Amino acid sequence: MQGYGIVLIGLLALLIGLTAGKAWERYKLVEGRWVDRRRVRQSPHFILGLNHLVAGQVDLAIDELERAAKLDPGALELRLVLGNLHREKGQVGRAIQEHQALLQRPRLNKIEHANVLLCLGLDYRRGGFVDRAVAAFQDVLKLDPDNEAALVNLEKLQEDQHQWQEAYVTRRRLARIAGPPDQPNSQLILAFLENELGLQALKEGRLDDAIARFEAAIELDSRVIPAYLHLGDAQHQRGDLAAATATWERAIAVAPDRAYLSLARLEETYDTLGQPDRFAERCRALTAASPREWRARVALARHLTHGGEPSLALALLFDALEHNPHAIAIHQAIWATLSLLDLPKQLVARYIDITRQSVFYLDPHVCLRCRYRSTELIWQCPHCHEWNTFVEERITPATDTEAEIPAALVQ
Ligand SMILES: [Zn+2]
Repeated sequence: MQGYGIVLIGLLALLIGLTAGKAWERYKLVEGRWVDRRRVRQSPHFILGLNHLVAGQVDLAIDELERAAKLDPGALELRLVLGNLHREKGQVGRAIQEHQALLQRPRLNKIEHANVLLCLGLDYRRGGFVDRAVAAFQDVLKLDPDNEAALVNLEKLQEDQHQWQEAYVTRRRLARIAGPPDQPNSQLILAFLENELGLQALKEGRLDDAIARFEAAIELDSRVIPAYLHLGDAQHQRGDLAAATATWERAIAVAPDRAYLSLARLEETYDTLGQPDRFAERCRALTAASPREWRARVALARHLTHGGEPSLALALLFDALEHNPHAIAIHQAIWATLSLLDLPKQLVARYIDITRQSVFYLDPHVCLRCRYRSTELIWQCPHCHEWNTFVEERITPATDTEAEIPAALVQ
């Protein structure tokens, strides 16, 4: 019987120990009173706050989360989030205050310290305090060298200030951390940064350096079209016209949809080389490969007009217009050429005829709720089933769009 009692006492002691341990985990002594750590997350204010956040109601979310935070003044994450919400609302001063206060807390561990500094850096960046933002992100990296958020923000700040070399070093760090799956994206960014470094060298007259940079950019990622354009420019400056045209032709081969960027350069250089026919050939090859490639047609039309063949040019422009009735540049080129020909009635009539056929392209009806498009006015949207949501989409300045929304939809 006595042995049984000892076992019972032992079990009881164990139970008390466990309960005390649990309680210790759950409660924390804050400024002389015991605080239940779980109460914050279980409080209705916390849940309501999250609901408001999901609904995008930032003010209401702040109110509720402030109440939840009162249950445990020590909750670091909640105060961090509250500071971030103030920043998102545009109250940068308030956010900075909130986050700076957290830095004063004793016994922040390394990761907590880095998190607070990161939020503070984001506040400074939002407020336009560039130097302080840079310093904050650099402090984060001293505590946590692989902090991707700090590196990405630092890179953006360096790019904003055209510190291309510094941005390059930062991107290299990010590429190393991200490892192989994200490396192609980093390669592309590094290539664009190389291109910027090349442009800087070009501006300062360091031609060889510039050429090396542009070539390195293409080596990193062959899709970086500006590197080809500027490499050609540098080769042109050096007097190597054959190399320049070869480079621009490569750019067209890599990205035919961006060919128009090379075409103006090629036109002039072919002329200088005494081979103007090469330009017409190139434009014709481009339009044959892609009928919607109206820019090559317009470029060739301009070339033909300059060469004294406006009638041929006009035929090309009419072709281009049929494929892309929206392109204002085509309409302008047509009117310029028609004027040059003294507005022959027959050709003006042809222009009116082509544009009349494509009028429906110019005034598509679009649902304001779901962006469903229709060529005619519909009263109920077949996609989102809302009533009276269609407006005619017109190319107008952004400020006009509100006036176009029917009064019924403005709540
Ligand atoms: Zn709709």
